[in-house]
Amino acid sequence: MDLPERESMEFDVVIVGAGPAGLAAAIRLKQIAAVAGSEISVVVVEKGSEVGAHILSGVVVDPIGLDRLLPGWRTDPERPLKTQVNRDEFLYLGPAGGVRLPNVFMPRLMDNHGNYVGSLGNVCRYLARKAEELGVEIYPGFAGSEVLIDSDNRVVGIATGDLGIGKDGKRKDNFTRGMELRAKYTIFGEGVRGNLSKQLVHHYGLANGRDHQKYGIGIKELWEVRPEKHRPGLVQHSMGWPLPNRAGGGSWLYHFEDNLVSVGFVVHLNYANPTLSPFDEFQRFKTHPRIRDVFEGGKRIGYGARAIVEGGWQSVPRLTFPGGCLVGDSAGFVNVPRIKGSHNAILSGMLCAEHVAKALAAGRANDEVASYEEAWRSSEIGYDLFRVRNIKPLWSKYGTLAGVTLGGLDMWMNELLKWSFFGTMSHGKPDHESLQPIGEAKAIEYPKPDGVLTFDKLSSVFLSNTNHEEDQPSHLVIKDPAIPIAHNLPRYGEPARLYCPAGVYEVVYADAAQRTDPRFVINAQNCVHCKTCDIKDPLQNIMWVPPEGGGGPNYVNM
Ligand SMILES: Cc1cc2nc3c(=O)[nH]c(=O)nc-3n(C[C@H](O)[C@H](O)[C@H](O)COP(=O)(O)OP(=O)(O)OC[C@H]3O[C@@H](n4cnc5c(N)ncnc54)[C@H](O)[C@@H]3O)c2cc1C
Ligand code: SF4
Repeated sequence: MDLPERESMEFDVVIVGAGPAGLAAAIRLKQIAAVAGSEISVVVVEKGSEVGAHILSGVVVDPIGLDRLLPGWRTDPERPLKTQVNRDEFLYLGPAGGVRLPNVFMPRLMDNHGNYVGSLGNVCRYLARKAEELGVEIYPGFAGSEVLIDSDNRVVGIATGDLGIGKDGKRKDNFTRGMELRAKYTIFGEGVRGNLSKQLVHHYGLANGRDHQKYGIGIKELWEVRPEKHRPGLVQHSMGWPLPNRAGGGSWLYHFEDNLVSVGFVVHLNYANPTLSPFDEFQRFKTHPRIRDVFEGGKRIGYGARAIVEGGWQSVPRLTFPGGCLVGDSAGFVNVPRIKGSHNAILSGMLCAEHVAKALAAGRANDEVASYEEAWRSSEIGYDLFRVRNIKPLWSKYGTLAGVTLGGLDMWMNELLKWSFFGTMSHGKPDHESLQPIGEAKAIEYPKPDGVLTFDKLSSVFLSNTNHEEDQPSHLVIKDPAIPIAHNLPRYGEPARLYCPAGVYEVVYADAAQRTDPRFVINAQNCVHCKTCDIKDPLQNIMWVPPEGGGGPNYVNM
């Protein structure tokens, strides 16, 4: 297609993604410029319709990052986090009961007292206001869809996607060419499995010599519960039932202000049984006798899902390349046993900004800010990840009971002796290679939803306020359209039907009873941008690319 030239704008720094990492980087750059009496022009692009629209997290926030970025935030009347953790419980669940693990057995780093419970989307909205007050330009509704790389193999910015292209690939009347945002340095804070970050990791070989990246899928609901069931500041985690011992994961249940409870479930994406459905495991979890009582008489008001990055210390790619850097979850900075990454996202945004600002002050441009890569392992982020580096590999290797017990011992060894008996373990294979053939798996049957405590996918997606322009090319690109039916269906029962938390993928039959003429159907408009299909498809045949800017979920208080 013969396309008109793109308009182009020049900045010192372009940031992709208005999550905590990208916004912290933007704020820090402006703070440094203000102190130095200089000017750094900064723009942030965000694919959600507004800042926070695509942010999904637990969330219990370790305030170390916010305290350092905005020291006065705790007394700001507009602060987004108001509930501090006052009770921290950890449960091991069996099918009918459970035991609470005594807090004294938990390593200190797992303690949540002093952390804050709330909505990470609202934290981002707050950070965006602070960034704008400092002069950062934020463009929500614009997805970074292409990295601009010059003839010297340096990143020189990004391009936003074209608007107004129809399903048939032809330009519609409202066609608008994307913009080129050119910069001396480009910071990629796209969160987990960012589409541009993934290309950069491949293009510059950033993961060479590092372990495979690992992931989980987190599915969340927001409930308004009855006042007598609400205990603001209570944080509860569980593992065990309903997941089998060989599948990793667990739940969270966080009470915060206004009778709100955030409840969610993470399933590690290296599960083997192709009949496992993370969404349905979550629905079953809520029916447990130790859990269900909280929701009685309450109302579910929000739903969403997002992958979570789990590889940790040994899987972090090289963070720098000519002209750009990775921050936050795009860098892989989640602490898995703590289920926390927002503090490291903020700290990494700040650390990156400090090194980029130094390079700008020295008159440099579009080269590699290698000092950021050299600095992170000896920073708080490195310390946070290093001491938990074996938890995920132990869990994957030995299952929940033995793996988590060994992991607990390992965390104690790291805490007390600064040493681990296990050294640094490897993760083994990537998540898309973990499925066993359906013929070898024990089929899991899930109960039907009751519509009160448990729900189906479509009514859930409705609560995510997901919306996409329907007349556009699918943003779920199937590289070989034959694979879902010819390979994935006979071998694995086409697992996309089950791992997708939004019911996007279906196999429909001409005659359902006889199972004749199967067809693979993609309901792309339901996609909540969790990225699980991009990670888990067994032959890596599904590629998630950004739809038209502004499309996707519109999360509120998530
Ligand atoms: C289920 C779940 C529970 C969690 N619970 C906790 C918790 O309790 N505590 C905690 O500290 N951490 C938690 N985390 C981790 C935490 O959410 C992340 O570490 C944190 O959000 C990472 O911040 P980020 O800025 O790197 O990425 P994100 O928060 O993912 O933000 C990335 C932003 O970039 C945008 N974007 C992506 N690609 C593009 C593009 N190409 N163009 C434009 N915009 C783009 C996205 O729309 C998004 O707004 C949880 C994560 C999950 C998934
Ligand atoms: S289509 Fe992929 S990215 Fe979208 S909701 Fe389903 S699994 Fe997640």
